[in-house]
Amino acid sequence: MPEKTENNRRLVVVSNRVADFKAKFQTGGLAVALGDALKASKGLWFGWSGDTRDDALSVPPHVENISGLTVATIDLTDKEAEGYYYGYANRCLWPALHYRLDLAQSNEEQSEIYFQVNGRFADALMPLLQPNDIIWINDYHLIPLAEELRGRGCTARIGFFLHTPFPSPEIFAAIPSQKRLGNALMVYDVVGFQTTSDRDNFRRYVTASLDGEQLQGDRVTAQGETTLASVFPVGIDVNHFKTLADEEDAKGALLPDAGEDVKTIIGVDRLDYTKGLPERLRAFEVLLEQYPEHRGKVRLVQIAPPTREGLPVYQEIRENVERLVGRINGRFGDLSWQPVIYMHRGVPQNILVRLFRRSHVGLVTPLHDGMNLVAKEYIAAQAAQDPGVLVLSRFAGAAEQLREALLINPHDIQETARALDGALTMPRQERWARHNRLWQRIETYDLFNWRDSFIQSFAESDTNPVNLFPK
Ligand code: ADP
Repeated sequence: MPEKTENNRRLVVVSNRVADFKAKFQTGGLAVALGDALKASKGLWFGWSGDTRDDALSVPPHVENISGLTVATIDLTDKEAEGYYYGYANRCLWPALHYRLDLAQSNEEQSEIYFQVNGRFADALMPLLQPNDIIWINDYHLIPLAEELRGRGCTARIGFFLHTPFPSPEIFAAIPSQKRLGNALMVYDVVGFQTTSDRDNFRRYVTASLDGEQLQGDRVTAQGETTLASVFPVGIDVNHFKTLADEEDAKGALLPDAGEDVKTIIGVDRLDYTKGLPERLRAFEVLLEQYPEHRGKVRLVQIAPPTREGLPVYQEIRENVERLVGRINGRFGDLSWQPVIYMHRGVPQNILVRLFRRSHVGLVTPLHDGMNLVAKEYIAAQAAQDPGVLVLSRFAGAAEQLREALLINPHDIQETARALDGALTMPRQERWARHNRLWQRIETYDLFNWRDSFIQSFAESDTNPVNLFPK
């Protein structure tokens, strides 16, 4: 291994599931952008394999070289996976971070296991680290990891990026073990958020619950620790999606021809209760009910791949969505027109992009969402001269950037229905003007800008500029 110099550091990325990232190694995605950065520094990607085994505690990490980067994974025991992943992370933190305290379930055993598994991550990672590493830790599963690493003598610079929202301080303060989480966040050199509202919520939480204070710039301090809390909105590989959309569009229509003047509204989301799918379907139903001129002239294509199906609340949301789809189709459909086309499965990226291009409206209505990349992908896939219209929830992180979308409150069904009518009837000149502004914004704040600016934020100290991407 060549010796690294001060300004030529090795990047280490840690995420809950490396296997997820490997599976998603599809073009244009976040995993690819991080993979490229890792390859450039001959870096290391570390996480849970996604597998469980009885003797996991005594098995060393599995280390392999995958196209120029090192991938290291550990297995968990069933009890660990249940407590850390299915339990505290997905049953408690995920809903609470999305403002669903009503769904947040936790017991002390699960939260204890969550902290212990973070300790296990640290035990396994420490021997793999090198002196000049910088470490990027991802998401709510791994909040305590920097604290665990520091406790084992790690002096590397460590950044944490939260992909979900950081909720208002009153909500975060209601999470069981919140103070341990809050104090653990303070250990990072940098904590990155998707939006200014997430960052401001965190700052207010530090002041209110950790007896901390805000310093100059984005710095906050509490309990003897100081961290930089800053905003890094995740973007997409805009040119990848545009090029793919152009290529795909040339192949023609995908959906059965419903007649020249039938317009398509597209929704693409994991079937998660945060995505506002029942609210969206009800808004579409109200559109058909109160704007009868659209009957027979519009269809909603909803693609909703399964997610976390083992948890009962996900089975409930699926039943609810499927009941609404059936109701709308039964109520309004006829032999020649089906109002809602619904698919409960994943779809190849090129097909998604072709659907985006061919749809007149992109409908994105999460009740809360860290960013929402589908909103950006929809914009990137539009034809510049005749673009579609994005109808977007104010509570998606993306709304802070995508101000020229038709922004709606997804809880307000009437407002969403009105916005749908506005989108379906919007003159081309206005569509074009809005699209141009949106396009500029997603192009400026793209995936690479996000990745590089976040890495720079924690890698660079005043005296040691880093060079992870030698030209
Ligand atoms: P989340 O991370 O909560 O799932 P995002 O909108 O930020 O939400 O990202 C979802 C990603 O998954 C997007 O890149 C989108 O294109 C992709 N995706 C969503 N639904 C499907 C599907 N049915 N098939 C394939 N990819 C999908």
